[in-house]
Amino acid sequence: YRDFHLQPLAGEWREGSSERRTTVTNPYDGSALLSIRLATRGDLDAAFDAAEKAQAEWAATPPAERSALLQRVVAIFDARKGEIVDWLIRESGSTRLKANVEWGAARGITQEAASMPGRVHGMTLASNVPGKENRVYRKPLGVVGVISPWNFPLHLSQRSIAPALALGNAVVVKPASDTPVTGGLLLAKIFEEAGLPKGLLSVVVGAGSEIGDAFVAHHVPRLISFTGSTQVGRGIGRIASGGEHIKKVSLELGGNSPFVVLDDADLDQAVNAAAMGKFLHQGQICMAVNRIIVAEPLYDDFVERFVAKVKGLPVGDPNDMATVVGPVINAKQREGLEAKIDIAKREGATVLLEGEIEGQLVPPHVFGDVTPEMEISREEIFGPLVGIQKARDEAHALSLANGTEYGLSSAVFSGDLARGLRFAQGIKAGMTHVNDMPVNDEAHVPFGGEKNSGLGRFNGGWAIEEFTTDHWVSVQQTPRTYPF
Ligand code: NAP
Repeated sequence: YRDFHLQPLAGEWREGSSERRTTVTNPYDGSALLSIRLATRGDLDAAFDAAEKAQAEWAATPPAERSALLQRVVAIFDARKGEIVDWLIRESGSTRLKANVEWGAARGITQEAASMPGRVHGMTLASNVPGKENRVYRKPLGVVGVISPWNFPLHLSQRSIAPALALGNAVVVKPASDTPVTGGLLLAKIFEEAGLPKGLLSVVVGAGSEIGDAFVAHHVPRLISFTGSTQVGRGIGRIASGGEHIKKVSLELGGNSPFVVLDDADLDQAVNAAAMGKFLHQGQICMAVNRIIVAEPLYDDFVERFVAKVKGLPVGDPNDMATVVGPVINAKQREGLEAKIDIAKREGATVLLEGEIEGQLVPPHVFGDVTPEMEISREEIFGPLVGIQKARDEAHALSLANGTEYGLSSAVFSGDLARGLRFAQGIKAGMTHVNDMPVNDEAHVPFGGEKNSGLGRFNGGWAIEEFTTDHWVSVQQTPRTYPF
């Protein structure tokens, strides 16, 4: 899995048709990894057309055959684990720890998808019309368009691709421009090696700002499965559901996870969870801890222990086993974080920990005395910065936790499980973890957000719903009497 300058378009590996190329670079040292010719709208049309042609036959294959294909993909994940992990480190700046976590998540959803073909079921329903039987068939959607981000490229592409293919759909993927290999090309190689028929999986390499609208507006896909920012998601939702060719859209968008420490929490556990949930992958995770909210009586103690813990986190080469905080993805992201640091200081946050930014390496920054009005509270940070807020009591903590436009993941620490559960149920989010970090994902458990964090759920039976549709077929078994 070395050479990725070609892309699988409409059943053959070839160059994109554009005269222009994109260079994929290593976020840590800036070295060029490869150069790829971009796909054009013509390539997009070819990919969608081939997908549509290939899909009908694929949907008719026995479920066990599709399941077996997914199981072969799992076996290749195992056999090529080292190569996959290395690509994640090189292309996305993942630390070794994070790359292994991501490999495991992508493998897990593939294994879950292998079970899906045999789990699809329709139903029969009684009818109010004499002699009629109502049947509901669960069918593939047809072609699914997948658009994924750069932070967990392998997993976030695969969590759509694997269920979609398992359930009899064809897929066209547009990976993020920073991660075309791990977000698409590498997966296409793996599926090809596992024996996926040609044309069922195409990867178009191109900028979202250039081919994104055409991708989403295209008449062939029946679902756009999008993971990325709320800002881009809004536009995609508008085109998919309000454009000329109406289609389903699933939107897995930004987050702003609150991490709440109630006054009876186990502080050591809370500190460790907050550090892991904040700094894994440099904080570039949709579920990452974005706001730490601590009950007043524990505030000083928490701050002291948290800063001491974070100070010791090794920052550096992601390839190095010991590194916890590696590089952020690109210069634009780093500049955005520099601006956020300046704004936090200007808005009056207390600097509890800071460090020198070198290249793409942004060391952990911790701010205290943060208020809900400050930008670091209101907005998704997506980097190794965090602000700590003080809560007067449980009710205040809950109102702070719910006080943003987002509702993806969240966490609450309490020594009293009944209290923790009650608090969790008050949070307006798709996911809340009691006495754990907000960064969690299991292939059989529903994953998704509320409010401006999106629409739809991934994983398990929820993915079966997402990537199939209902067809009501009724059978009139005795002649029906009509009024005229
Ligand atoms: P992004 O800028 O929204 O990009 C995501 C994808 O959308 C990329 O492939 C991008 O392509 C493409 N895109 C950009 N403009 C487009 C357009 N007009 N039409 C169609 N596609 C377009 O997000 P990101 O910076 O890559 O990822 C970070 C964001 O993703 C964060 O907000 C994070 O919270 C969110 N996220 C959410 C989840 C979740 O499960 N809820 C998981 C991970 C990340 P280019 O790369 O070519 O611009």
